[in-house]
Amino acid sequence: MSSIELRQVTKRFGDTLIVDSIDLTIEDGSFTVLLGPSGCGKTTTLNMISGLEEVSSGEILFDGKEVQDVPPHKRDVAMVFQSYALYPNRSVRENISFALKLRKLPAADIAERVAEVAEMLDIAKLLDRKPRQLSGGQQQRVALARAIVRRPNVFLLDEPLSNLDAKLRADMRISLRELQRQLGGTFVYVTHDQGEAMSMADQVVVMNGGVVQQEAPPLDLYRRPANRFVAGFVGTPGMNFVPGSLDGGGSFAHGDWTVPIGWPGAARDDVTLGVRPEDVTLEPAGPGAPGRVRLIERLGVEAIVVASFPSGDVISRADPDIELDADTPVAMRIRPGKAHLFDGEAGDALA
Ligand code: ATP
Repeated sequence: MSSIELRQVTKRFGDTLIVDSIDLTIEDGSFTVLLGPSGCGKTTTLNMISGLEEVSSGEILFDGKEVQDVPPHKRDVAMVFQSYALYPNRSVRENISFALKLRKLPAADIAERVAEVAEMLDIAKLLDRKPRQLSGGQQQRVALARAIVRRPNVFLLDEPLSNLDAKLRADMRISLRELQRQLGGTFVYVTHDQGEAMSMADQVVVMNGGVVQQEAPPLDLYRRPANRFVAGFVGTPGMNFVPGSLDGGGSFAHGDWTVPIGWPGAARDDVTLGVRPEDVTLEPAGPGAPGRVRLIERLGVEAIVVASFPSGDVISRADPDIELDADTPVAMRIRPGKAHLFDGEAGDALA
């Protein structure tokens, strides 16, 4: 097994700073997800860990040993990509066993290892087919099998499920977690899909603009986002944000509209209130109420209610049978202790 550490790792392409002095510790045997919007530097970071990209500066350590100058094939890592990158003219069996043949393992050992991973990934019946005779999900399983069969200490996965449909993606999330438990290796997984990150990770590293925004287990990230970016990126529907001020008496104000949030801090201007849709209730109120219902989506398990307020739209998750109609005047209530506050300028969470 392998722990991975990044110390002040920086990557420039020409004059452009892509990854900016990242410090990161990835625990041995953990499932760590690098999460962030397109272009934030996740893939570049993963490629520096594998050795496919050189670092511009900084150190990468595997089990405490520097590897930034070690070529990829000597780092004992396996990569799985979004595009499966299978050899089209070789059978599934040949695709999986190729790396072992290069290592000149005895034929009997190769056959045994291929059979073992094929069983694990439920592709034993496909071993004699060519990649073009497989569905996308099956091809991705073959790509995983090819990585696993080498028994590396570190698995690096770059959006491996993006080409699969929603149902297969959900199944593969479960398979991947089970696989990791079985194999016990260190998994580093890149995605822009927060649902994928939340469902699979032990530890999520949120990146934006080449900088790590927060590193935390999924629920901590959800409950205690370090800043506005993380708060807005994690969770669907996203957190509601309202700019305004604190009156020092436990209420938040946007213009002359106030809402009690029980915040114990002193009065100050220039803050942003953040509240998750499940922590907002929209209640019918008199015609002078600040909000108006715009839209109700009844989704079976819940209803999503969108109301317009002087500060902008507010989204609430509600009971699927909630008695509200479009245009009903509503007031907003926030569940006690559930308001988040961010510095209006820097966006950092206020304690
Ligand atoms: P995505 O989810 O879209 O793949 P990402 O977070 O993985 O995004 P990267 O692929 O790491 O982002 O790319 C980060 C930035 O670096 C992008 O703006 C990209 O255009 C740029 N970039 C990546 N590789 C190179 C390269 N070889 N030369 C120049 N710029 C590059």
